[in-house]
Amino acid sequence: MTYDTNNIFARILRGEIPCDKVYEDSHVLAFNDIAPAAPVHVLVVPRGAYRSFDDFAQRAKAEEMQGFFAAIQKIAAMKGLAEGGYRLITNHGADASQTVHHFHVHILGGRPLGGLLAGDVSAR
Ligand code: 5GP
Repeated sequence: MTYDTNNIFARILRGEIPCDKVYEDSHVLAFNDIAPAAPVHVLVVPRGAYRSFDDFAQRAKAEEMQGFFAAIQKIAAMKGLAEGGYRLITNHGADASQTVHHFHVHILGGRPLGGLLAGDVSAR
């Protein structure tokens, strides 16, 4: 699967569509999810063109990876989540229901989040 340069997060990164920005630096842009699943629901995206975590893990430089994960920790702290706790989610591919094909991590918090796969997913 090739990277689609017109995916929604690529367009947000290029400034073609607006976002509710939370944080940015040379490695990442972070913004509030348009359909929040928790009181805090921030999406963190790398500036580079990666389709998913799987792609990022194989192709990103060590510096990009370090910058990406350092930014996630910084944003969680900025949002006051370090003490109460937070969850990181990243979806790769169809079984994970990835809908936007630019790598992103969801930061979720601000309330008790329940079990790992709360809701409609059984382990069968
Ligand atoms: P995925 O299922 O790919 O892990 O998650 C994609 C996320 O992107 C969803 O939580 C969805 O609500 C969010 N999203 C989709 N389109 C937009 C958009 O245009 N702006 C923002 N801020 N979030 C979006």
